[in-house]
Amino acid sequence: MNRPHNFSAGPCILPLEVFEKASQSVIDLDLSGLSILEISHRSPAFVKIMERAQDLALSLTGLQNKGYKALFLQGGASLQFLMTAYNLLEKKAAYLDTGTWSTKAIKEAKLFGEIEVIASSKDKNYNYIPKDYKVTENFDYVHCTSNNTIFGTQIKHFPSTSSPLVCDMSSDIFSREIDFSAFDLIYAGAQKNMGPAGATLVLVKESILGKVTRQIPSMLDYQTMIKKDSMFNTPPVFSVYVSMLNLEWLERNGGIKAIEEKNKVKAEMIYTEIDRNPLFKGFAEVEDRSMMNATFNLTDDKLKSKFDDLAQKHQLNGINGHRSVGGYRASMYNALPLESVEALVNSMKTLEKIA
Ligand code: PMP
Repeated sequence: MNRPHNFSAGPCILPLEVFEKASQSVIDLDLSGLSILEISHRSPAFVKIMERAQDLALSLTGLQNKGYKALFLQGGASLQFLMTAYNLLEKKAAYLDTGTWSTKAIKEAKLFGEIEVIASSKDKNYNYIPKDYKVTENFDYVHCTSNNTIFGTQIKHFPSTSSPLVCDMSSDIFSREIDFSAFDLIYAGAQKNMGPAGATLVLVKESILGKVTRQIPSMLDYQTMIKKDSMFNTPPVFSVYVSMLNLEWLERNGGIKAIEEKNKVKAEMIYTEIDRNPLFKGFAEVEDRSMMNATFNLTDDKLKSKFDDLAQKHQLNGINGHRSVGGYRASMYNALPLESVEALVNSMKTLEKIA
C-alpha cells in the first residue's frame, strides 16, 4: 500500500499494525465473532481492554503503585481545561501561558477561581518557553502545557513547586522520558501519541482530590470516574481499544526510552536542515524547540508555490503551519518513520537546488 508521509498535527499517524489489528477487530474481536463496536462496555472482554489500557498507561509512565489512577474520559483535553479547575481550584491557581492551549485552559479556569499567570511568552507570539519566574506562593495547583503543538515549543524544565503540578501533555505524552511522578495530574487527548480522537487520558494522584468545597456534577468529578473505573457512563470504546493496541505497540518496541531515541533522531534531522538551508528559518527559539512539532517558515514567501508543489509531488501530507504561525509544521509523533522526515528534508534540499 502506498501511504503518504503523514505529518498531521492531530489526529495523526498511528502504526500501520495498530490500524490493521483495529480494523480486524471491527469485524471480529479476538475470534469472538463479534465486533469491538457491538459488545457491551460491561462485557468481560471490554472490561479487560479498559483495565489493560489503564495498566499500560501507568506502567509506561512508571506511575504504577504510586497512588495514581488512569482514567479514560471524554470531552477531549478541552474538557480537562475546566474539569481540572472544577475539581482542584478553591482559591487561586497559577498558570504558565505558553500558547493557544494554555490560554484556553486559563479562560476556563477563571470561571472557578482566581488565576495568576506566572509567566507568558505572548510577547513573542509564543516562540519560546518563559524561564524567568519563580513559584513562591502556595497555589491550589500550578498548570503548564508540556508541548505547544501550534508553536512548536516544548518545556524541558518543568516548574519547580511544592503545590500540586498539573500538566496538559496532549501532544507529547509517551514521547520522551520525564519524571511523571513530579506531576499530580496529567491529561492528554488521545489523538496524538495514543490513539484515535474520542478518549482523553487522565493520570491523577488520588490524594489531591476531594479538597474543594463546591459540589461537582457526577460527570465532571474525577472521584466518580475513579469509583466507576472510567465507566460511569458508556466510555469511548473504540478509542480506548485502539489506544490499548497502540500502547501495546509502544511497550513491544521498548517503551518510552526507546521511542525517545528515535524521536531525537527525527527531530535532529529536520532541525539540522532548517538551520543549514538558507531558504528556511525555524520559528521557535532553538533551546525550546519541540521534538514533536517542528515549525518553520520560508525566508522568501515567493517560493511557497514551488515548495508546495514539491510537497505534493513527494506526498508530504499535513505540513501546513497553523494560521497563527504560518509557514510549515512537521509533526513527528511516535509512529512517524524516519523515512518520512528524510523525504521532507530531501524536498527542502531540492527546493534549494531549483530555486
Ligand atoms: N492541548 C494541546 C496541547 C493540544 O494540542 C490540543 C489539541 N490539538 C488540545 C489541548 C485540545 O485538545 P482536544 O481537541 O482533545 O480538546
